[in-house]
Amino acid sequence: MGMKIGIIGLGLIGGSLAIDLKQGQNHTVLGVSRRAETCQQAIARGIVDEASDDLSLMGQADVIFLCTPLGVMEATVQQLIPHLTANTILTDVGSVKAPVVEAIAPLWPNFVGGHPMAGTADNGLDAALSNLFVNRAYVLTPTEATPALAVQTVEAIAQSLGAKIYHCHPEEHDRAVAWISHLPVMVSGSLIAACLSESDQKVIKLAQQFASSGFRDTSRVGGGNPELGLMMARYNQAAVLRSLHSYRQQLDQVIHWVEQSDWCSLETQLRHNQQARPDFTD
Ligand code: NAP
Repeated sequence: MGMKIGIIGLGLIGGSLAIDLKQGQNHTVLGVSRRAETCQQAIARGIVDEASDDLSLMGQADVIFLCTPLGVMEATVQQLIPHLTANTILTDVGSVKAPVVEAIAPLWPNFVGGHPMAGTADNGLDAALSNLFVNRAYVLTPTEATPALAVQTVEAIAQSLGAKIYHCHPEEHDRAVAWISHLPVMVSGSLIAACLSESDQKVIKLAQQFASSGFRDTSRVGGGNPELGLMMARYNQAAVLRSLHSYRQQLDQVIHWVEQSDWCSLETQLRHNQQARPDFTD
């Protein structure tokens, strides 16, 4: 059954959601974005049925996806509330869940936290793509107080995008993504920074010339958009710190084995890592 779906923040994620919801399904898609130019572009490209820089457009929506940067979500919801009716369902796509759920659920009980785990290195409406969510995890973080109908509705929409649905607590989500997404950005960034600490200019030049696929893979997430890394550390501070401390312990352990020439322990660890990796990547 077609619904009126609102999208606030027509960027990479909001624009990609709009494309799939309007094309594949029988929904009417209404978009709100900060810049009038983005709204005009979204209409011109047929990504949304209607768009405006005024939140009152969302008054017609049955379900609204908040797709703005994390830092403006709470203020956006405060401005949005006067335009909503009690049964409007609100969900968000933020990459960190506990602070968003803690801020928004008290303001709007019919709210379900969500995180589609898909993206590219680009942002803005120009980066929006169709089928971005196919076969990707889409995590929902309802609390005991979240109305079942709101959860079912958001889940059905996420499923219609071809995503794989998972449910967990907001804090569990944040701890899990700290391990597989946020820690890797800090580790990979630190790798690049450590290479730059080489004081011999000839050696650093040679390293740059020799760098190949291994360095490209291990430096990719740390050499990307600084705003993403900053967002992770800032909004998921506790879980990122926890994983960083654990990583430092791990590094200290490796340093100890190498200092002691304890190749046996190092080998045991490396074998264990080799066995464990497919559980994360396959
Ligand atoms: P993005 O491409 O920069 O899109 C966000 C868009 O929101 C901007 O293009 C901007 O559009 C609009 N915007 C900014 N402030 C606004 C406001 N106050 N009101 C209305 N619209 C506003 O960023 P994104 O990557 O799609 O990320 C959006 C959300 O998705 C974030 O919360 C992020 O945590 C989450 N997320 C990101 C990824 C990823 O890989 N990128 C993955 C999953 C979830 P205009 O200025 O052009 O109007």
